Amino acid sequence: MALTKEITCHQAVALVSDYLDGALSRRERRRLEHHLAGCDACSAYLDQMKVTIALSGSVSPEDLPEKALTDLMEVFENFQRDRNDEGD
Ligand SMILES: [Zn+2]
Repeated sequence: MALTKEITCHQAVALVSDYLDGALSRRERRRLEHHLAGCDACSAYLDQMKVTIALSGSVSPEDLPEKALTDLMEVFENFQRDRNDEGD
């Protein structure tokens, strides 16, 4: 059965900064947390964002170099491909 409320990794990543900023609605936060609970890649991204914020004091992904974000997304996609290859 398809869960129409599921968010994609790209959506989750887009929500993480607002999540850390406390800017999400309760519904958005629950959807993101549900995704994070089942997605190691996005959980790792959340951890990375926390480190970035701790270092820079900023929540804005705009502050990250564009290349860093691109590299990060490639890591996610490779990670998910690997997981899919393992079968699940
Ligand atoms: Zn994800």
